Amino acid sequence: MSTGVPAGARLVLATRNAGKLRELRELLRGRIEGLDVDTQVIDAAAAGVPDVPETGVTFEANSLLKARAVAEATGLAAIADDSGLAVDVLGGAPGIFSARWSGRHGDDAANLDLLLAQLSDIADEHRGAAFVCAAALALPGGHTVVERAELRGTLLTAPRGNGGFGYDPILRPEGYDRSCAELSPEEKNAISHRGQAFRALLPAIVAALA
Ligand code: IMP
Repeated sequence: MSTGVPAGARLVLATRNAGKLRELRELLRGRIEGLDVDTQVIDAAAAGVPDVPETGVTFEANSLLKARAVAEATGLAAIADDSGLAVDVLGGAPGIFSARWSGRHGDDAANLDLLLAQLSDIADEHRGAAFVCAAALALPGGHTVVERAELRGTLLTAPRGNGGFGYDPILRPEGYDRSCAELSPEEKNAISHRGQAFRALLPAIVAALA
């Protein structure tokens, strides 16, 4: 095993996002016999792996890039996700540019404000959009699996709610009368693009760690 990887680690999440690591541990908890998710599932920082540039042009390609790089660097099974918001009337944009739509990577408020301004003349019936997520598993031997999932909804004309992150305050999921930022974390995980994609990947993760 590569230096820098804590002894006993079995699965690496190719992100530095503590929230995503928490979500993944909850998803895996109790699913794999003998796997201690709190100590054996770690993130890229704990594994000492540097950030992987997202040079792909699809969610699938970027999730696979990250998972492959981390599996190679650590010699362990690795999983990664890539996600964003795809707006119908913008032909799927911001898409892979969601985190930097306003020009500043990770400026959620500026990204959301710019998108709302761009859509200001668009009527409700044309404000369809989806959060999209690709979740990938890569094994050190080169085997990979990728799953894609969506959470469809309608874009509001002004932000609502204080929960969540990113574009959550302006996406109202189909069948709900609240924005994603007004859902509890449990409600959102149950329907979210990320939850669905990782649940679809679960059998492959279980098989990899069995
Ligand atoms: P990443 O996959 O963590 O790089 O996320 C890319 C960007 O997509 C984030 O910065 C957000 O702007 C947006 N995004 C992805 N998933 C969500 C979500 O569940 N809610 C709100 N915004 C999201």
